[in-house]
Amino acid sequence: MSTSVHDVVILGSGPAGLTAAVYTARANLAPLVLEGEPSSTSDQPGGQLMLTTDVENFPGFPEGVMGPELMGRMREQAVRFGADVRMERATRVDLSTRPYGIWVGDPTTAEPTYQAQALIISTGAQSLLLGLAHEQRLIGHGVSTCATCDGFFFRGQDIAVVGGGDSALEEAIFLTKFAETVTVVHRRDSLRASKIMQDRALANDKIRFLWNHVVDSVEGEDSLSSLVVRDVLTDERSTLPVTGLFVAIGHRPATELFKGQLQMDDAGYLVTEPGSARTDVVGVFACGDVQDSTYRQAITAAGSGCMAAIDAERYLEALHHSAS
Ligand code: NAP
Repeated sequence: MSTSVHDVVILGSGPAGLTAAVYTARANLAPLVLEGEPSSTSDQPGGQLMLTTDVENFPGFPEGVMGPELMGRMREQAVRFGADVRMERATRVDLSTRPYGIWVGDPTTAEPTYQAQALIISTGAQSLLLGLAHEQRLIGHGVSTCATCDGFFFRGQDIAVVGGGDSALEEAIFLTKFAETVTVVHRRDSLRASKIMQDRALANDKIRFLWNHVVDSVEGEDSLSSLVVRDVLTDERSTLPVTGLFVAIGHRPATELFKGQLQMDDAGYLVTEPGSARTDVVGVFACGDVQDSTYRQAITAAGSGCMAAIDAERYLEALHHSAS
């Protein structure tokens, strides 16, 4: 099978990738979008919003919109302008020569499946979960990985946050605006979070700490009703009656494919030039959560997808100009 060469290939179909697709499609660049495969929660088409229910903070939807519906509409918009969106997952990339090689399926074949003059990477990041039975099922029904997104739904309720880093404490402090009480469940007796966050959390009288505890199970049929927690020192189990659980134990950016080929920070996020989507390889751009460990919002991902599209468009224009 011969390799097809594209002006723009976009890896990933969350808000960043699909916004980049809308913009590059409207610039007549006929982008090819490899949206991922539904078999995996880490790179399923549509990204993390496919795992959420109500999205109330995406501008333009005063009544709110369901995460999967929002992503479906973004996809439709990209296709309407000529994006070729395929339910495929890249298994290997070669960024050593342009056009860049992208493999789908068997990564050991000599020839890549596709080649791209410009590559936009929007493979996202995955919130780490505890790995408990029913945890996935209850996401959007009491279990959440984003306080900014979901805190509002827990007004007047007793909820828990698991983790002891800056994210956990930031989420706990934010959640006290809505919740009656916030219990931070942490597996040790000291926090990893910065001193300033610790001071703020410890001084907040809505926050209590359950030290040396882990969550053993999440309970509830249609929505979360309680947690079973375990004291790691005594092995004693008890029930924590909470209707919300925010898992804040870190994120993993989906950058495995790019190791050794693109500059990454210590946590594995792709590094982009400030104020642009440019990576350290010319013609390769990154947008969305794969390069953002700070904001992680659908709207910031979409904004950075627009930046990547405009950067790619300008790059291709200069490339074609220099070739003519
Ligand atoms: P993190 O610093 O890696 O902390 C993860 C926390 O989750 C740790 O306390 C860890 O416990 C706990 N944990 C990990 N796996 C667990 C498991 N399976 N079960 C129970 N607990 C588990 O991650 P983060 O808080 O997301 O922060 C990531 C980076 O972003 C950090 O550099 C942080 O400073 C930065 N950040 C900064 C801000 C801010 O400045 N406002 C806000 C958020 C994040 P142990 O401590 O026992 O390992």
